[in-house]
This record gives sequence, structure tokens and C-alpha cells, in this order.
Amino acid sequence: MSSPSKDENTLPRALITGSSRGIGAAVAETLAAAGHPVIINYRSRADAAEEVAERIRAAGGEAVLSAFDVGDAEATGAALSALLEDPRPIGVVVNNAGITRDGMFHKMTPQQWKEVIDTNLTGIFNMTHPLWTGMRERGFGRVVNISSINGQKGQMGQANYSAAKAGDLGFTKALAQEGAFKGVTVNAICPGYIGTDMVMAVPEKVRESIVAQIPVGRLGTPEEIARCVVFLASDDAGFITGSTITANGGQFVV
Ligand code: NDP
Repeated sequence: MSSPSKDENTLPRALITGSSRGIGAAVAETLAAAGHPVIINYRSRADAAEEVAERIRAAGGEAVLSAFDVGDAEATGAALSALLEDPRPIGVVVNNAGITRDGMFHKMTPQQWKEVIDTNLTGIFNMTHPLWTGMRERGFGRVVNISSINGQKGQMGQANYSAAKAGDLGFTKALAQEGAFKGVTVNAICPGYIGTDMVMAVPEKVRESIVAQIPVGRLGTPEEIARCVVFLASDDAGFITGSTITANGGQFVV
């Protein structure tokens, strides 16, 4: 049974943060292919974001771009206000934008800590908060937070990143309890190592040692994560909230 508050013929607009590249780009393309009009957010790579939008339009989908830094509450609020001038509500938000600023803790600077917390943790507050009331009022919403295997198990050299990603999981569980009786689900996905720019930036030798720890014997693909998001965004997932999908090739069994 579909949600009473949605137009029966169209899927809700979906906003995907950090969708100019990597996992976010695959999420945007897969949601668009499923029929969602998508909003592609990015921070600086307009060229890459435009390419994603062009691929979506060429495939018959609808995509618009919106550049802002999710860690900047004011910029995020202003961008969302502009996007909400479109009468079609934003019914799906995928909090995917993320960065790493790795370093052993004894060498980690306050700046490395702050940048990662601002983007990976505070960013999901900045994004979700302005959309939350509307979702509650309409009785429908889907929030999907992209956390990480390293938020589940911790990772040496990533005290900042592991803390932010574990925080994303706490946020997911708490908010799910607030949204459930209003038809708004909040779930997380914890990808393992996925072959995106973030992982390809790691030296090849380190990458080989990472793959050696993955029982399926390979890195994951952005599309494998995107398919999890599309499922969580669908009506079929209406009974799932406060959950974490662990997609890591068996590297860490929760
Ligand atoms: P990429 O580095 O490939 O892409 C990051 C994306 O986030 C880009 O679109 C980038 O925009 C955007 N972005 C970065 N900072 C901001 C910001 N402050 N505001 C708005 N957009 C921003 O990352 P991945 O695809 O690898 O990762 C996506 C998510 O998945 C992240 O949250 C990451 O932590 C998580 N993850 C990734 C894993 C992996 O193995 N790759 C494993 C587990 C979790 P621009 O192009 O403009 O720079």
C-alpha cells in the first residue's frame, strides 16, 4: 500500500548530498532511473556534477544541481529554501557527503577533527533539520544516512572519521524513533571499502592490504550501495526504520 500523502503517479524528489562523484553519483543515477526527480548536491566539482546530471537526463530522468557545503548551516539552509520553492516536496534525503582527513591521533590537528565532524556529522543535521518538519506534516519521508564500516569498528588513523560515522548511527537510531509514527523512516548504510576517489587516493600497497581483508576478495562498487538506498527509499521499506544495512563484503560482521 502506498503512502496516502504522496502523489500516486510520481515518486518524491530526492536530494543526494555529495552526488557529483563516487557513491553519491551512483545513488543519484539509480534513484533517477527508478523514477525520482533528483537534486545533485556537491561542494566544488561543478564539472563532475554536470556530467552526472547529463547522464540522468540522457536516460530520460530529471536532475538539477545545487552547490553548497553541507557543513555550513547558513549556506545549506539558503540552498534548501531555494529548492523548496518548487511545489513538489523533497521526500527523500540521502546524507552521503563525506570527507577524510586521516592522521594518527597524536598528530591529528584540531582542524582535521573539525573539518571531518563538520562535514560528516554536523552536515547531516544541517541537511535533515530544515526538511524534517515538512516530512512530518506530510506523513511521509525517507532519510538515508551513509555511515561507514569504520564507524562500526573504528579505524586506526581515523579517530575523527570513526567518531563522526558512529555519530551518524546514533543520530539514525534516535531520529527513527521520532519519525516512525509520522511515516518518516530513518536508516543508515555502512559501506565497506568501495572503489571511489576516496579509496583510490590510498596508496596501492595499502589498498592491496585492504582487499586482502575483504572475504569476497574485491572492493565494493558504488552501484551496490546505490541499490540499498533505492530500496530504503521505496514504499517496500516502510517497515524498516532505525536500521543499518551493512554492505562490506564480509569484512566486519556486526
Ligand atoms: P568521494 O570522495 O568519491 O566523493 C565525495 C562527494 O562528497 C563528492 O561529491 C564531493 O563533492 C562531496 N562533498 C565533500 N564534502 C562536501 C561538503 N562539505 N558539502 C557537500 N558535498 C561535499 O566519496 P565516496 O563516494 O567514496 O563516499 C561517499 C560517502 O560514503 C561518504 O560519506 C563516505 O564517508 C562514505 N563511505 C565511503 C566508503 C568508500 O570506501 N568509498 C566506505 C564507507 C563509507 P565535490 O565533487 O564537489 O568535491
